[in-house]
Parts: sequence; structure tokens; C-alpha cells
Amino acid sequence: MDIGFIGLGMMGQPMAGRLIDAGHSLVVYDSRPDAIAALVKRGAQAAKSVAEIADRVETVLVSLPSPEVVLAVATDASGGKTIKRFVDLSTTGATMAKSVAEALESKKIAHIDSPVSGGVGGAQKGTLAVMVSGPAEHVAAVKDALAVFGKIFVIGDKPGMAQTMKLANNMCSAAAMAATSEAVVMGVKSGLDPHIMIDVINAGSGQSNASMAKFPRSILPRSFDFGFTTGLMAKDVRLFLAEAKALGVQTEVTGAAGRVWETAISEMGAASDFTNVIQPIEKKAGVIVGGKK
Ligand code: NAD
Repeated sequence: MDIGFIGLGMMGQPMAGRLIDAGHSLVVYDSRPDAIAALVKRGAQAAKSVAEIADRVETVLVSLPSPEVVLAVATDASGGKTIKRFVDLSTTGATMAKSVAEALESKKIAHIDSPVSGGVGGAQKGTLAVMVSGPAEHVAAVKDALAVFGKIFVIGDKPGMAQTMKLANNMCSAAAMAATSEAVVMGVKSGLDPHIMIDVINAGSGQSNASMAKFPRSILPRSFDFGFTTGLMAKDVRLFLAEAKALGVQTEVTGAAGRVWETAISEMGAASDFTNVIQPIEKKAGVIVGGKK
């Protein structure tokens, strides 16, 4: 299939690479020329702009950092001569998905929201959870291409349904990271070994993706290199809280977790890895979790 791919960052780069490996013909664009060059080496064609992509292919996939950037790129793409469907792999929230869908609908372009979960490792291995919502005939047209990213879950046919699913998932992930960080810092301050703590939590009922993947890989070794930024996690938490508030749903626990992420972004910076979330908690407690034994 001929595919345009815009946004070749931590997630977009490996996802676009997998499409090439699966035999799709890719034309790619990113505001960073080095990100384009890396994919051209793997066989993609380079485009000079979003508009050029929308003039060359029917199917445009995007993996972009924020709802505002997605709206700007969708607006640029909407004037294209060939584009028929715009597939948003980013996490943008249901409100923005609906606005983008409306803007595209007026130009007879279908919007499919298809946020993904499973991190950079999942994007490289093709083991992501791929949530999809949009018009059935357009979902059917892109299903085989999206399947190279991982397991597809069709959430519904209305714009934003897959985004809502993704925000619920990421809120669970964000809360588990915040709670596991506070729990492990508590244990370490009282004299426990964090490596033993994580082994026990992973064999017990406290287990989560935070304890199974993030602590062993990026926190205990102090590498803080999981591949998702604090800024993007804070964005997802803010989007979740805004949508929960709009729906009148209580946010007692998720609101508290949200405050932990706001502290992380103000103390560690938006560009820090999201596993750095533990460091302000360590600082207040006066302990360090992990490192050399
Ligand atoms: P990233 O910042 O690494 O990548 C975004 C890319 O978009 C960058 O290469 C950037 O140069 C490019 N870009 C920005 N503005 C642009 C524009 N106007 N035109 C063209 N290119 C532009 O972010 P990421 O970690 O790859 O995440 C992308 C999206 O996927 C986000 O919405 C994020 O929430 C979501 N996501 C990320 C992960 C993860 O683990 N990193 C997991 C699931 C979902």
C-alpha cells in the first residue's frame, strides 16, 4: 500500500520502519531532516512538506507530539489532491479527535484515530496495542497496514472512541508509575533492598507494567531511558483529567497521581524520561532507589 507517514520520532521511526519491512511503499516527512534521512536509508521516499504527502498518497499516518500539532498538520494535509484518510497514531484525546474529524470531513477526508500503547519496545517489535475508531470502510482499508504495529482493537466507529480508550489506559499506567515509585521509596527509606522489593511485587499482587518493565529496565539501573518523555505523560494525564471532568466522573486517585506528574514536569523538565518521575519523591525522602549494589 502507498502510505504517507508524518512524525518520525521515538514511536514514528520504528513504526514507519516496520511498514517498509512489510513491503509498503512509504513517503515520509518530519520537521527534523535527520529523522527523514534515517528512513530514506531504509527505502522510504522523502517529502518536503505535509502538503506534498497529501498530494501523493491516499492514506496518511501521523505520530505527532501534541493535539495542537496534530490539528495543524491535519489542516495542512486537508488541502491535498490525493489524501482520502488521515490516521492519527498520536495521543490527542477525544475532544481533539472530534475537532480534527470535523475539519477533515468538510474536505471529504476520513479521520481514523488509532492511538497505540506498548512503548518504543513495542513499536520496534510490532507488539503494540493498536486502538482504532473511525468509519468501517476506511478502517478496513488500513487494517492490514496497522497490523504490522501489533494487535488491533476496533473500539467503535465514532471519532475519539479509541482516544478515550487510550487515555483510560495511560491513566492506569501513570497512576501505577506514581504509586509504585512512592511505595518503593517508602520501603527503601525503611531499609529494604529495592531489587528484592521489585522481585516480590512482581511475584505478588502489586505487580504492574511499572514494576515488571519500567523499574527493572530504567529505574533500578538508574538509566532513565525508557523512551517516553515526562512531558508526553503529563499531557496524557491532563487530557484524561479534562475529559473525566467534562463527563462529571470523580478523579480522587487519578487527580492525586496527576499532581505527582505535575511535580515531575516542574522538577525534571518536559524532555526528561518519564521514569525520572521517581526522583522528586526520592529527593523529598532523602534516599536513592537502585544503582550499584
Ligand atoms: P516524539 O517527540 O519522539 O516524536 C514526534 C515527532 O514529530 C518528532 O520527530 C518531531 O520532530 C515531529 N514533529 C513535531 N512537529 C511536527 C510537525 N509540525 N510536522 C512534522 N513533524 C513534526 O514523540 P513520540 O514519543 O514518538 O510520541 C508520538 C506520539 O505517540 C505522542 O502523541 C505520544 O503521546 C504517543 N505515544 C508515545 C509513546 C512512547 O512510548 N514514546 C507510546 C504511545 C504513544
